[in-house]
Amino acid sequence: MAKVTKRKKLVVGNWKMNPQTLEESQKIFKGIKKVFGKVKNVEVLVCPPYTYIQPLNKILEPLKLGAQDVFFESVGSFTGEVSASMLVDAGCAYVIIGHSERRAMGETSEIVSKKIATAVKENLKIILCVGENVRDTSGDYLEFLKNQLKDSLVGMQKRYLSNIVIAYEPVWLIGKSYGNAMSGQDVQEISIFIKKVLADIYGKDESSKNLILYGGSVAPINAKDIIEHGQVDGFLVGRQSLEPTGFNEIIKIVSEA
Ligand code: PEP
Repeated sequence: MAKVTKRKKLVVGNWKMNPQTLEESQKIFKGIKKVFGKVKNVEVLVCPPYTYIQPLNKILEPLKLGAQDVFFESVGSFTGEVSASMLVDAGCAYVIIGHSERRAMGETSEIVSKKIATAVKENLKIILCVGENVRDTSGDYLEFLKNQLKDSLVGMQKRYLSNIVIAYEPVWLIGKSYGNAMSGQDVQEISIFIKKVLADIYGKDESSKNLILYGGSVAPINAKDIIEHGQVDGFLVGRQSLEPTGFNEIIKIVSEA
């Protein structure tokens, strides 16, 4: 009988525009590495600002590096942009696409879909962020979520699907008090919903390969409930990923779940 291997969970740290110096970034990175080196069943990915990617790549193993964004064209006169192949060259295995902070600056799902198309061709794995801005009582947020997911994945070929990790991040819970994060039960409802939307587009067998993460004020005090009851495969972590102690605690919780 074929051996069934459990897929690895994933914890992603999104550093956003932090910290302010390379020296600090190396300190945080080494602090995460120290504990993470002992955890075998979780993949840990850090997404620093572009300028820290190459220097951190030199002290990488066993962590992985990702970028926080990518441009949708592969080459040419696009001032200020960074291409998918440049990210691979710098040492990135992943890229976050469609983070709510970029969507708030005007990034549409159409742009997101173009970025995904460019990145998958370079063999980058994608952390695709989706999430509603607000919750209403009539359930419109589910329709919003479904459309955002479908529009972001428009034109994405089935063969690339396993390279896409879906990060569900309710925008209204990002950067909030850790005590107010979503309960595991509530995350589970959304996780099932996302799996259904993916199954409707790509079929159940294909879409079952996708990892689903939760993000939004994750911290050691709420991580256990969400990972144990939320039917998610890990977390996308903002503020706590800049705190090695808290981030390592989250990794440990995920590893033991
Ligand atoms: C985020 O911005 O993706 C995020 C999850 O941030 P925080 O964990 O700080 O809420």
